[in-house]
Amino acid sequence: MVSTDWKSDLRQRGYRLTPQRQLVLEAVDALEHATPDEILGEVRRTASGVNISTVYRTLELLEELGLVSHAHLGHGAPTYHLAARHHHLHLVCRDCSNVIEADVEVAGEFIAKLRGEFGFETDMKHFAIFGRCAGCAAEKESGAES
Ligand SMILES: [Zn+2]
Ligand SMILES: [Zn+2]
Ligand SMILES: [Zn+2]
Repeated sequence: MVSTDWKSDLRQRGYRLTPQRQLVLEAVDALEHATPDEILGEVRRTASGVNISTVYRTLELLEELGLVSHAHLGHGAPTYHLAARHHHLHLVCRDCSNVIEADVEVAGEFIAKLRGEFGFETDMKHFAIFGRCAGCAAEKESGAES
């Protein structure tokens, strides 16, 4: 996994995470796009006593500290990222539920337009954009021809 400097970042800001909170943060780092349930599963491999409400509370705290952020990739629970690595839009394929990460830059013109016309600062990362991925679109097309 990509190593991050959140530990020194926290130290500089005068925070120290309890081992449990650190485990949650490490699970977010390792899993990517993980729901609280999936994070719990990962944390329990090391600390079996942790329960889901602890995970929720910890995620809330870590989000307040600016260490993690969440995105909604569907109707279920939100998924979590390390905040430092969350600079992408989520393109979710309706057919295979594959998640494509696209740099927020691809929406630059759209964001600029909304800012210009509405004075609105758009957060493109929070919700996913749904559609059909290239692979599924090609499959659909070849199926239609036969
Ligand atoms: Zn993401
Ligand atoms: Zn949200
Ligand atoms: Zn697909």
